[in-house]
Amino acid sequence: MWIGIDDTDSINGGCTTYLVAELIKELKEYGVVGYPRLVRLNPTLPWKTRGNGAVAIQFGRKDKVERESKFPIAFLDGNLIFGFAVGKCEEEKADESIIKKVSKIVERLAWFKDPKTNPGFVVFNKPLSNDFYWGAVRGVLSQKEAKKEIERRKGFYRGYKNERGLIGATAAVSWEGKDFTFELIAYRDPEFFGKSRGIDDESVKKLDRECPHTFDNWDWKNDHNRIKPNSKGPVYYGIRGEDPSELMRGKELVKSEPVHEWVIFKTNQATDDHLARKQIAGVKPYESAIIEGKVCKAPVTIKGGHVIFVLEDKTGVIDCAAYEPTKEFRSVVRELKVGDLIECYGSVRKERERLTLNLEKIKILKLVKVKAKTENPLCPRCKIHMHSVGKGGGYRCRRCRAKASQKEAVFKEIPRKINLGFYEVPVCARRHLAKPLKRMKYPTFFTSNF
Ligand code: ATP
Repeated sequence: MWIGIDDTDSINGGCTTYLVAELIKELKEYGVVGYPRLVRLNPTLPWKTRGNGAVAIQFGRKDKVERESKFPIAFLDGNLIFGFAVGKCEEEKADESIIKKVSKIVERLAWFKDPKTNPGFVVFNKPLSNDFYWGAVRGVLSQKEAKKEIERRKGFYRGYKNERGLIGATAAVSWEGKDFTFELIAYRDPEFFGKSRGIDDESVKKLDRECPHTFDNWDWKNDHNRIKPNSKGPVYYGIRGEDPSELMRGKELVKSEPVHEWVIFKTNQATDDHLARKQIAGVKPYESAIIEGKVCKAPVTIKGGHVIFVLEDKTGVIDCAAYEPTKEFRSVVRELKVGDLIECYGSVRKERERLTLNLEKIKILKLVKVKAKTENPLCPRCKIHMHSVGKGGGYRCRRCRAKASQKEAVFKEIPRKINLGFYEVPVCARRHLAKPLKRMKYPTFFTSNF
């Protein structure tokens, strides 16, 4: 059986991932199949609390598992908890008692008082097709569509308040997980919830240096500890990476208050699943896209330090923005020139008269040659440099009064400060879903040029 939960937290506390920890404790008599899942959905929605994350977990029959297939997935209530390889744990069907237990956890831990919190959970006995996931990570869905999907797949659901959580809960179960990473989430002792987090920065730098398959731990340029959330909830920190055993090693390196409990989630973070290749005319608000086009208006820096340029393709034009929080990424964007051919990765947040693509990374495909005037033209008769007549007026020889056009000056190509390839926003500005270049096996160019 698969259980999906979403929309239980509030800006004032709580975290939906924590319900997975509680669920594993409550359903002790069952075996966890694979890793619990933390699934990030459309990052542009205005009603999300923070990272638009939903969770899902599969349980099987514990008395019928092949013990040798187990691997550690969590540490809860002082015990190491194991998951069982998919196919090694016999399927289990959900019954009334399971639904009661899930309801009890949701009703105990969800922040019902927050008007933006609309919890929902789903239970399925069969896996879902992943269409619903793609709709939820790339588009905007309704509660009605979620219920239709649940009914079609013969699932059970319980929604609270406006029941929006059913969308994320269904999408989390429907994620097939072809490209994936892991996150080890460490939880605090409940007595520390809401208090500031004491995490030794030096130990996080060590983690970043010594665990090569982890990512987004520390922003070296901006001195930012990225494993530590700002929220008031139960999460102490999260270490993201490719390899669960390295995450457990990384946890030992982080110096902090004692970690009370932890869970390793399989996630769609860092996969770029939210991005679809599009032409400009096809980009809609609340969508994320990869667009190939030419810079048609050079970058300008506006109030607040945001850098904006205009991109065109054969279907239209769109503003592209590197906002102030993207820090040194803006220096790259400022170097773009009219005519450069690039791929832009990002999302359009809301409906505006002019759509703006909020950049997560760019790939430079072709750089135009940029020339600058180095000398005024020589007078062919007098062999001396001519003088400018004024803006746009060409040149004239002071001695013989001969004239020359603007084009006859001496131009030289000036080297571009950026190269072909990818450039991404720094760790401190990275979105959960954005695939870091480290995962794409492309070198980061920041160190070479900026
Ligand atoms: P977290 O804090 O766990 O990172 P979040 O708190 O930012 O996530 P939620 O509180 O879960 O986000 O709120 C997002 C809400 O939007 C949920 O109710 C979820 O079901 C819903 N939702 C998710 N994806 C979509 C979508 N594509 N279309 C419409 N609603 C969605």
